[in-house]
Amino acid sequence: MRDVLPIAVLVLLVLGAGVVVTAAACLTIAGARQVRRRARRQSAEAPARPAHVPLQRRVVWLACHTLSCGHLRTPHYPAGPGYVMCDQCGAHRRDPS
Ligand SMILES: [Zn+2]
Repeated sequence: MRDVLPIAVLVLLVLGAGVVVTAAACLTIAGARQVRRRARRQSAEAPARPAHVPLQRRVVWLACHTLSCGHLRTPHYPAGPGYVMCDQCGAHRRDPS
């Protein structure tokens, strides 16, 4: 019977160490998920800006029909032969003229 107490204490210490290791792993995984979620949210909030366009340029006002512009008429600038690009969201579409 005298050997039962040290074995019980040893079992409790091993269980406690297991709980500590499990808690540390959960905190590490939760922290990594939060960092990844924050980075994804920041990249979603900052849409890609259209490339620099020279000042003297032809502008066409068109309804954009994208999620960010809605159906508002926004300035579209030439972006390659036969295409224009929205100045607000950067969406490309065929030149109507
Ligand atoms: Zn747009």
